[in-house]
Amino acid sequence: MDGFRKDDNGRYISDGLSPKQFARLFDQIQKERAHSRRRMNGSRHLTPSLLRNKHLDDIIGLGKKKDGTFFTIEDLKQFEANRGQARKKFTNTQPGITYAQLVAHSQAIDVKRANNNVDDGSGISNASFIGLQHNVALIRVAASNRSIDSSHLVQLRFEEWDEALENVTNDRAALMRLVRKLVAGRASINCDCGRYMYWYRYIATAGNFTISPPKEYVFPKIKNPNLRGVACKHIIHAFTRMQGAGWQTRIIESLIKASKGHHYGDDRKKTTEYFSESEIKQLNRNRKGKTNHAAIKAEYQRYQKRIDALQSKLTDKDKTKIDNARKKLARARQVTAQERERRKAAEAKAKQHASDVEAYKRQLSDLLKMQKQLFIDAQVMAGKTPEEAAKAFELHIKSTLGK
Ligand SMILES: [Zn+2]
Repeated sequence: MDGFRKDDNGRYISDGLSPKQFARLFDQIQKERAHSRRRMNGSRHLTPSLLRNKHLDDIIGLGKKKDGTFFTIEDLKQFEANRGQARKKFTNTQPGITYAQLVAHSQAIDVKRANNNVDDGSGISNASFIGLQHNVALIRVAASNRSIDSSHLVQLRFEEWDEALENVTNDRAALMRLVRKLVAGRASINCDCGRYMYWYRYIATAGNFTISPPKEYVFPKIKNPNLRGVACKHIIHAFTRMQGAGWQTRIIESLIKASKGHHYGDDRKKTTEYFSESEIKQLNRNRKGKTNHAAIKAEYQRYQKRIDALQSKLTDKDKTKIDNARKKLARARQVTAQERERRKAAEAKAKQHASDVEAYKRQLSDLLKMQKQLFIDAQVMAGKTPEEAAKAFELHIKSTLGK
């Protein structure tokens, strides 16, 4: 264990930690949470099986609602309906949520807090991009004045990373476009704050856009029974900052590096980068921190309408065609990946072969040298001068080769 310090409330102190230590601390916190969750064994948790079976004893065991009354079967039915809607709202066949989708479905209060547009001390304004673990951006977000924490770690995993990597070019303008598309595209999200844990991780699990482990299957029956919103202020703020050119230049740098690398694309050691303090400062000079909730929501709804209209026009035949094309594309990607592996293996084998040949050559030359010395020594002992002996050896070799 790294021996991280705690404050009087038993909370870890993250001030002054380097990006690497900071990322480690949050790994540790996540592990400790998983551990205490296993111990709790969830007796009062609304698990999927309880939601399905609705046994009265279990329902009473859930305890009381905010208004002091017990949960009812009707409540559970409503919860089930809410869950079904959440799953339908987010296409959970592909991982991640786009930036527009995230903002459009966020609760207004979370966006206001992300924009520091509140006067109760719950707003936030500071975030630093501190590192990249393969396709996961690490963002350290200073907690609000009201919070007992000092900072949170937001993770954004860019799910379209491999496609971007395949399209890296030397054309700077094309690269900028590529990265703008990447960071606005599908990302899986995570934050260690309570809001994400108790309000939103359940929804993000159903929609297939939370970074897991952990996945959350326990229904947020008290905190968020209507399943509103998708992300905490920290995630909204971090995702918005990622839409600015400042942080994107750093992504470009890593993409170029990854496209030239000979190591495996997801080799954790080779693809993890923690930025230096001076680099973090540099990245933070260019800031675009406000989320335009109304504009993005309107734009997203227009987009959704177009998609819905298109969908309704599609015949079943069209849908099968699109489905098949999608499958083919996925297969093609898989084949390229396999081919890359095969080439890498062949290269390694050829290298091994070449080094075997070298070793054999060295052995042979050593052997010849030894033979020569033995021959000459014998001749000298028999009374020849060393020069005569060397000449005799050459004659001996020639006659051997002549045979
Ligand atoms: Zn958060």
